[in-house]
Amino acid sequence: MDIKKLINAAKEASARSYSPYSKYKVGAALLTKDGNIYTGTNIENASFPAGMCAERVALFEAIKNGDDQFEALAIYAEGDNFPFPCGICRQVISEFTRDLNIIIARSENDYVIKNISELLPDTFEFSI
Ligand SMILES: [Zn+2]
Repeated sequence: MDIKKLINAAKEASARSYSPYSKYKVGAALLTKDGNIYTGTNIENASFPAGMCAERVALFEAIKNGDDQFEALAIYAEGDNFPFPCGICRQVISEFTRDLNIIIARSENDYVIKNISELLPDTFEFSI
């Protein structure tokens, strides 16, 4: 896997962020085992809960395409802090995999890698 390429794809997606309220531009790039890359960006709304995180935009696009075997996810946002995924995104990622390396980047050369099992060790599961 080319980490820099995935971070760059997330960075490019962040440029299309719709974030007039927070001004916090986030991009995500999800690499699947088939070698496809799905990108997403955060899309805000005047009704704040109606907005959507970059990670979920990318993940839902992959699922929509029937591409649900994931290799890695890069999240990119410039700033002082690493753009860790929010709790909702951690739960959504955990719905599809308990073993995904997430590259959390605040620049192309400054990143940390965490597995979803570290970020959300005890996921909520619904059994019927
Ligand atoms: Zn989120």
